[in-house]
Amino acid sequence: MQVHQYDVIIVGAGGAGMRAALESSKRTRTAVLTKLYPTRSHTGAAQGGMCAALANVEEDNWEWHTFDTVKGGDFLVDQDAAEVMCKEAVDAVLDLEKMGLPFNRTAEGKIDQRFFGGHTRNHGEAVVRRSCFAADRTGHMILQTLYQQCIKQNVEFFNEYYVLDLLMTDGKASGVVAYELATGELHVFSAKSVIFASGGFGKVFRTTSNAHTLTGDGMGIVWRKGLPLEDMEFFQFHPTGLAGLGVLLSEAARGEGGILRNKDNERFMERYAPTVKDLAPRDMVARAMANEVREGRGCGPDGAYVMLDLTHLEPAHIDAKLPDITEFARTYLGVEPYTEQIPVFPTAHYAMGGIPTNIKGEALATNDDIIPGLYAAGEVACVSVHGANRLGTNSLLDINVFGRRAGIAAAEYAATASFEELPENPEQYVVDLVEGLRNSTGEERIAAIRSDLQATMDLNAQVYRTEGSLKQALTDLEALKKRFANVAVQDKGKRFNTDLLEAVELGFLLDLAEVLVAGALARKESRGGHFREDYDKRDDVNFMRHTMAYREVSVAEDGTETVSIRLDYKPVVQTRYKPMERKY
Ligand SMILES: Cc1cc2nc3c(=O)[nH]c(=O)nc-3n(C[C@H](O)[C@H](O)[C@H](O)COP(=O)(O)OP(=O)(O)OC[C@H]3O[C@@H](n4cnc5c(N)ncnc54)[C@H](O)[C@@H]3O)c2cc1C
Repeated sequence: MQVHQYDVIIVGAGGAGMRAALESSKRTRTAVLTKLYPTRSHTGAAQGGMCAALANVEEDNWEWHTFDTVKGGDFLVDQDAAEVMCKEAVDAVLDLEKMGLPFNRTAEGKIDQRFFGGHTRNHGEAVVRRSCFAADRTGHMILQTLYQQCIKQNVEFFNEYYVLDLLMTDGKASGVVAYELATGELHVFSAKSVIFASGGFGKVFRTTSNAHTLTGDGMGIVWRKGLPLEDMEFFQFHPTGLAGLGVLLSEAARGEGGILRNKDNERFMERYAPTVKDLAPRDMVARAMANEVREGRGCGPDGAYVMLDLTHLEPAHIDAKLPDITEFARTYLGVEPYTEQIPVFPTAHYAMGGIPTNIKGEALATNDDIIPGLYAAGEVACVSVHGANRLGTNSLLDINVFGRRAGIAAAEYAATASFEELPENPEQYVVDLVEGLRNSTGEERIAAIRSDLQATMDLNAQVYRTEGSLKQALTDLEALKKRFANVAVQDKGKRFNTDLLEAVELGFLLDLAEVLVAGALARKESRGGHFREDYDKRDDVNFMRHTMAYREVSVAEDGTETVSIRLDYKPVVQTRYKPMERKY
């Protein structure tokens, strides 16, 4: 085992982690630990854009953006955080431009902007062009740009290091323990500040736009420490996944003029959102699509999907603005978007919930109490700017604004704090976890358990939920956890043992699925991405509050441990906007 010491440790090298690293490494000794090579992080898969009220192509301002974010999030957004994000958005985009990001341009040479769902002019009058983009490779460009800057600034990276535990001393963060993929060696990192920027957990679902690696490790690690997770029941289903596959076709396709149609070739969104139509927020479009299919207006042999129509757009326009995603349609479905409609259906996309933080990126233990030295930013965090439903292009914005803030706050804290003494045998939890799995004599296959987990989540906790479906999910999850206790790791080796790490990741997914379902079962209302058929209205009296979930362990006299989930709630921060009915 090796021991290292840094002032600030950042877990994750996606957009949030690298934006934090640029700030922190300017101020203090910083290391970034990442399980993937940095430029393989999921930020690189983001397609459509990053929004900011630059007003480059039409009138716009940050207050309209804030309103849209709050309304889009179905009034579960903490409005102070949304104000910060939307105000700082303009500088966040300009910072990236100065770093060299090649944004698309208008004829006059300004950063071009396009439509995205739920972004409107003057509180809902009409859609507004607010999203800055680099074709449909915006995330790729952000990730490459930030990585170049990190290299220029000599940020230290530990690539293919899997962080598996957070170290705490007297209630403060004091470091992390990581597993080095290449050697199987363990590394203890002592630190004054730890920032989690480890992304989402979209692999709890089968139909998902998320990469194989999005297993919620960061959320799982803090959860096992008894720290809370916020609003985990709010998961976003993106309307346009390639049918049957879940591979994402960016909302930019609709931003550039694409239209959704049912089997009668009807532009059905006109019925659901007469003003903004296909550019309604994602939760509404996803439900509308699922409803068309349920009511027998779906397309294809089983009527299981609807169509995205781009055929009325000029091929040159498609090539200039949507080159990658139209190529996906050709490659994966053999469909030619110039002339044919593309089969699409909602796909799991984004975790609105996560590690609770305040607007500085400081992680919270209870409603307002911070955990000294612990920070989170990006999809792993819940600040909460997305509330019950994130607006398109607000995540690439979130990772830049709050990644930057967390980097500054963590470095400033490290400047005054001293290193805490590490707990005795700091590596012990990870040794037990890893060796327990490696030496397991069980016969359950990792892939089979993961597949059954994803099947029950898709069936029971997706776009439509009921008490019955959620209870079924909990029963299934309990059975899956028992099977997981007998999971077999076939590779017993030390070097590049991805089999072992997939077992660890599956453990996190099972924990997080349970938290998601428990929160969803208790939330007897429908809000944003969480839709209960048995409680199909929003209930501001009882549920305009954030869910805070805690893992509790009770030990019986004979030493057996029982783990349970305790739910608590905390108020939503309201500044200027009162809840109203959400119509578009
Ligand atoms: C296909 C797709 C398209 C999207 N398009 C858009 C878009 O156009 N606009 C928009 O705003 N949003 C978009 N999103 C959402 C957005 O891209 C993500 O929410 C955002 O990029 C997340 O950034 P992040 O830095 O938080 O995490 P990620 O980019 O996911 O990075 C996570 C990092 O954590 C590391 N990590 C994870 N676990 C561990 C561990 N145990 N130990 C060490 N390191 C670890 C990984 O190596 C990685 O470096 C899209 C998402 C997808 C999936």
